[in-house]
Amino acid sequence: MTRKVIYLDRNENNYGPAPACHDVLVRADSSLLSLYDRSFARGIKGVLSERLASEFGLGEDRVLLGYGAEHILKQTVQCYLGPGKKLMVPAFSWWYYRKIASEAGGLSVEFPMTAGEDRFRYDVEGMREVYRRERPAVVFISSPNNPTGNSLERAGLETVLADFRESVVVLDEAYIFGGETAYVKALVDAHPNLLVLRTMSKYYALAGVRIGFGLMGKELDALAAFGNRYLGFNRLSEELAIAALDSPRYYREIARKMTEDKDRYYAALGRLPGFRVFRSDANFILAAISPAHGKGLKAHLEERSLMIKFMDEPLLNSHVRITIGTQEENRLLIDAITSYYE
Ligand code: PMP
Repeated sequence: MTRKVIYLDRNENNYGPAPACHDVLVRADSSLLSLYDRSFARGIKGVLSERLASEFGLGEDRVLLGYGAEHILKQTVQCYLGPGKKLMVPAFSWWYYRKIASEAGGLSVEFPMTAGEDRFRYDVEGMREVYRRERPAVVFISSPNNPTGNSLERAGLETVLADFRESVVVLDEAYIFGGETAYVKALVDAHPNLLVLRTMSKYYALAGVRIGFGLMGKELDALAAFGNRYLGFNRLSEELAIAALDSPRYYREIARKMTEDKDRYYAALGRLPGFRVFRSDANFILAAISPAHGKGLKAHLEERSLMIKFMDEPLLNSHVRITIGTQEENRLLIDAITSYYE
């Protein structure tokens, strides 16, 4: 019998979207599919950007919509990173950042991040030093960061933003687990070169629908023009996203369960030989494992139809990144990993 594969390798949200999203699909009016949206005539991009503008207390013209945060990251790079220009990224970060820089003919430079005993940390002084030396056109800061799971705390963020005035700065908050909106307006108002990036993929469990959005400072006119739309966005996706935004209690409960399960992982994996588990603010955790066990553990989990990510990067090559799944999935995975070491 083949067992259903449990995917805990791509940081999706296995609880699935709120019931209100299913209702949108069941009740969808087919005119959503066949007609262009007419929001352009109202001077806005669409109902979702309008809704997000009111959630964040910003003008609709400061909201960018994209097919996933990846699309907005790519647009930003296409817009501001010409050949030979530099994109500054965290030393440990999503591989895609460097890929889109090279696609645009740009170069990637890395700023340091340090591995503490049980948590990675942004090195604010290190970031400022690399910035002064490299003069990047664009800076990506990821908070919480993939794959290390740590965030850049507010004071550190303020310090680097005060310094990084000559560049376009993207604060990638794809993994923020909570729909917090309160601080974003003050940040983008104070820093006109800043783009705060969010997605519906992770917290809102809509990865397959491909919706990302950005909240922009006032200097990013070129990007705003790039993201402008005449024929609208995706009407069905917009309805799905709005239904998710209307369901805060559903998502808060999932976040609560995930926090509980992260503690279970820290405790259970932290006891295993060779394991060093890093604390995470995201819906995944990173752990260093003993290199001798990588292959064996991978095979052991695959036999049980459990997929986690075995990292294969220069500085993270003996590490696993585990997506926090449903409580049942997490129990199965913890048991399976523990049984390998028994
Ligand atoms: N930022 C980071 C750090 C990510 O890891 C990802 C996806 N893995 C994204 C952005 C993009 O997510 P999406 O395109 O689904 O919004």
